[in-house]
Amino acid sequence: MIPLIRGFKDILPDETPVWKAIEDTAIAIFQSFGFREIRLPIVEKAELFQRSIGENTDIVEKEMYTFPGSRGEMITLRPEATASVVRAYIQQQLYARDPVQKLYTIGPMFRRERPQKGRYRQFYQISAEVFGIDAPYIDAQLIVLAWTLLERLGVTGLSVQLNSLGCPACRPAFKRALADMLAAGTGGLCADCLRRKDKNPLRVLDCKVPACREVMKDAPSMTDYLCEDCARHFSKVQSSLIRQQIPFVLNPRLVRGLDYYTRTAFEIQTDALGAQNAIAGGGRYDGLVKALDGPEQPAIGFAIGLDRLVELVSQTMPQKPFSPDIFIAAMGEEIQEKAFDWSCALGLAGIKTETDFSGKSLKALMKRADRVGAEHVLIAGSQELEAGVLVLRNMNTKEQVPVPIDGMVNHIKQYLKDYQ
Ligand code: AMP
Repeated sequence: MIPLIRGFKDILPDETPVWKAIEDTAIAIFQSFGFREIRLPIVEKAELFQRSIGENTDIVEKEMYTFPGSRGEMITLRPEATASVVRAYIQQQLYARDPVQKLYTIGPMFRRERPQKGRYRQFYQISAEVFGIDAPYIDAQLIVLAWTLLERLGVTGLSVQLNSLGCPACRPAFKRALADMLAAGTGGLCADCLRRKDKNPLRVLDCKVPACREVMKDAPSMTDYLCEDCARHFSKVQSSLIRQQIPFVLNPRLVRGLDYYTRTAFEIQTDALGAQNAIAGGGRYDGLVKALDGPEQPAIGFAIGLDRLVELVSQTMPQKPFSPDIFIAAMGEEIQEKAFDWSCALGLAGIKTETDFSGKSLKALMKRADRVGAEHVLIAGSQELEAGVLVLRNMNTKEQVPVPIDGMVNHIKQYLKDYQ
């Protein structure tokens, strides 16, 4: 047996209903808030991620799956969706039709992280991006949307962490203050932070290494450096969340790993997950569309980790086992062809049908019907065939009714309708 690759996983048939239920809930909420779906390739030119996510990030430095394409260009399995959505917004000129675009996409992302519980190398995200709106209300609305989704799915112990990263006008002063602090003493920082502190001191702030956290505990806060516009924006985001009764905590350490974030940054955590407690993260990236050679348009987005959500939700979501409406128990070789025709006719009529073509004894067939959880068994032996009437047995009530072969699909449809 050739096993799957470490960090990757199979999503088995018993698990897919939970994935589907979460996706359906998300889609319903997105539609209520005016979002439309976009589907994008899972590969892009490596440069797209290098330029948008930033060279001095964990993702670009060490986590991307990158390989040469046939023309020598480097191709990357997408580590997140935002860069691709922005690329499509620019390349397909979605802004020309309407600069305001509210988009969502659901699909796999790839990062070569150290695998552990809740952290995979192929994982799934539900991502939402809004272009063309700089009002703080949209920041708050996205948080309301993500929160609502998690709440509707029954996730408990939620908290929103909130910060503002300022803008190109006010962030340099903050960066300088951080750099000055780091210049005064960097004892205890991890090797990554030592290397990055000059190019991007902000990254040191969100390093998870405990020693780095200790060094940074008295670091300056971006919110003390916000310009008037950014301060007003941030304050409006907060008051809007309060209006919607979304509890949040200000977290000056929350900078997100990505270079293109401006102003609002947020993360939604749950205390039900253990170490990997972040379930959603997002923020504004007003500079990215322009930086990728598009028009000057503000943007904001978030991503929810589906894998972690599934883990949480499957503990509480009632699991409805897959059960066919009808199990065709056809006894004997000669009836199999008829059983085949009936199974096609019932299936085509939208009746969930399972057929056993083995031609085994009734006892064996009933055992199998039980195992697959069939609601009803359609019993067909040579006697029934001769009489032109089959027997439909209700597996719960044990009641048996005759079903004429002639017009069988309609008879069964009617029976199932009356039964419900
Ligand atoms: P990010 O794109 O890093 O902001 O991540 C957004 C969300 O995706 C996180 O809050 C996690 O729930 C999820 N996520 C990120 N990386 C992984 C991973 N390697 N495995 C599983 N989920 C992940």
